[in-house]
Amino acid sequence: MQEFSEIIKAADIEVGGVRPLRSAVRPQEAECPICGGSGYILRPDGRAQLCRCHAERHFQQACRAARLQPALQKMTFERFELANYPGNAQAPDGKGRTYYELAKEACAKMRGCCEKLVVGGAPRGLLLLGQVGSGKTHLAAAAANYLLRRRQKVLFLVVPDFLDELRGAFSGQEDEVRRLQEQAKKVSVLILDDLGSHNFSDWTRSVLFTILNYRMNECLTTIATTNLNFADLQGLLGTRSLSRLLSLCEPCLLACDRDLRLRGLEKV
Ligand SMILES: [Zn+2]
Repeated sequence: MQEFSEIIKAADIEVGGVRPLRSAVRPQEAECPICGGSGYILRPDGRAQLCRCHAERHFQQACRAARLQPALQKMTFERFELANYPGNAQAPDGKGRTYYELAKEACAKMRGCCEKLVVGGAPRGLLLLGQVGSGKTHLAAAAANYLLRRRQKVLFLVVPDFLDELRGAFSGQEDEVRRLQEQAKKVSVLILDDLGSHNFSDWTRSVLFTILNYRMNECLTTIATTNLNFADLQGLLGTRSLSRLLSLCEPCLLACDRDLRLRGLEKV
């Protein structure tokens, strides 16, 4: 149970009622049936306690800041269905391991990486490799959700969209674009989803190199997913970026014998 002073601080309220509750100025948040939108509840003993909607509101704000889209907010480690990965067939290039064994290992490694981050470590991230629909985005989003729930700073970038955004920036948006690039360089945890699904130009290659190079030098945890193999990645990103990516991320294969998204088997 938190002291009332802590609750006031967490809710960003000025004592004396000068500043209204955040929720009071956001009508959509005044619908919590438990607290009526105030963000806290008074217990019978007169002490105040944060309502569960307070944590949820914080999580939603954190997701917006991290650019984690609503559809990805449901992808958690708990919802990663190992049953989708056959345990009776060896995965191609899986060095004798089954689809199930690879998926279990990828999930455990991703979770282990997140657990280290939460206790203040800066572990090497993962580069999830696998064909379209093998569950890579699910695991990357699960990492984002896990970390955001634990108040870690994360930026989740869908690489093709990010590069389009940078390239398509019109005059007047330069500051915004520069800010996003700086954020990608410096954020505690950067997640690059779908690396390689883009026609790279010299300029986008150079943007990506700058980000990866900075993060490698600063030992900042980076997670990435790609449909490409190493040879194609090297052709697309260039040797310098690929070597930095591999320094930042441990390669980890995640394969499935079918496209989980097409079959609608991936629980979201
Ligand atoms: Zn509430």
